[in-house]
Amino acid sequence: MKCPKCDAQLPDGYRFCYKCGTMFAFPGETPEESVRLAKEQYQKYVQYVRAQQAQQEQQPQSSQQPQQTAPEQQPAQQTALR
Ligand SMILES: [Zn+2]
Repeated sequence: MKCPKCDAQLPDGYRFCYKCGTMFAFPGETPEESVRLAKEQYQKYVQYVRAQQAQQEQQPQSSQQPQQTAPEQQPAQQTALR
């Protein structure tokens, strides 16, 4: 499915274009129905995008945590000297 206005590639069944914001009417629906369903789907899309952005913001923070695995061989050497 392609947006007739901006030619963006959209998943099948989409009622709006997330690039240019155009809403599509499906055959057999009243304009009021189309607008209401399109708004519902748009809200789901916004929630999905926000969830993805939140995940991307969390990932760098977790990878920046320093790993405290400093090798400590001194105690073993001290016992060997005795
Ligand atoms: Zn578009």
